[in-house]
Amino acid sequence: MAPHYGIHLRGGVITERDIDLCTVRVRVPAGNLTVEQMRGLATISKRYGSGFAHFTGRQAVEIPHVNPKNLVRITKALAKNGTPLGSERDEVVNIVACPGKERCKFGMIDTIALAKKLDERLFGKDMPVKMRISISGCPNACTSPMLNEIGIIGRVKPKRIPGLCTGCGTCAEYCKECAISIRNGVSVLDEEKCVQCGVCIQSCPFHLLKSEHSHYLVMVGGRRGRHPRTGRTLIALEEEEKVVDAVERIIAWVYRRAWSGRLLSDQLDDLHFDGFRNEIMGELQQ
Ligand code: SF4
Ligand code: SF4
Ligand code: SF4
Repeated sequence: MAPHYGIHLRGGVITERDIDLCTVRVRVPAGNLTVEQMRGLATISKRYGSGFAHFTGRQAVEIPHVNPKNLVRITKALAKNGTPLGSERDEVVNIVACPGKERCKFGMIDTIALAKKLDERLFGKDMPVKMRISISGCPNACTSPMLNEIGIIGRVKPKRIPGLCTGCGTCAEYCKECAISIRNGVSVLDEEKCVQCGVCIQSCPFHLLKSEHSHYLVMVGGRRGRHPRTGRTLIALEEEEKVVDAVERIIAWVYRRAWSGRLLSDQLDDLHFDGFRNEIMGELQQ
């Protein structure tokens, strides 16, 4: 079969150093695969690649050394396996998420469910710039969300129930940010130092610390690579549906306003990010 140039030009197909071969990237939202999908990928890699797979830094899987003549066949086989062709061009690429509260004791949001929702609605949308989305269940930020075009972090603000604190100091011991001190026999929070990780809430043996404001922090315009930059805070939202709405608005805003050829992080001022932030905050915080 002759090479299929339509597929060859798709984002999930990457020409290798040996230009007669290509690597096929697979879409794996949140990096989760079933046993059946893994078996299927093994069979596909043996049949169309050279029998191995590579896991990328953004939780996708790649099948290296594919003959371009087999691109139609491998694309169909991947779709049938529930692991369709991935992305790497200027588009919404594989959505990354840590285990979040599904599996991690520090997780405060359902990162996997959010990643799947965003993947269903936005994956592969053509954009003027590459849009990477990364979600972390807590400020430990294991998936480095602040270094992506859109980053989402689960956070919670601790609140002490007044009058009952014994001053035992357990919460202060557990706080890695030294944001809690014991004064006059009770715990006192330094909000400036607190990163809202929620560890102190779990540590209090008397359950006197509560979650005051559990939320998703949404950041825009971070990047990795040779000149990494931290994204800017856009908004804090308490409901998952509002986060999905906010991300769709960010994608639409970037789609309409951004120019190709420059990373989003370099364009935020030109795109009047602060105006957008005010607009979106007004609409979503109602
Ligand atoms: S970011 Fe937080 S919730 Fe996610 S894996 Fe790391 S520690 Fe767990
Ligand atoms: S939420 Fe985290 S950073 Fe803030 S006081 Fe508690 S343990 Fe410290
Ligand atoms: S662990 Fe609980 S009881 Fe002990 S100082 Fe902290 S809030 Fe007070």
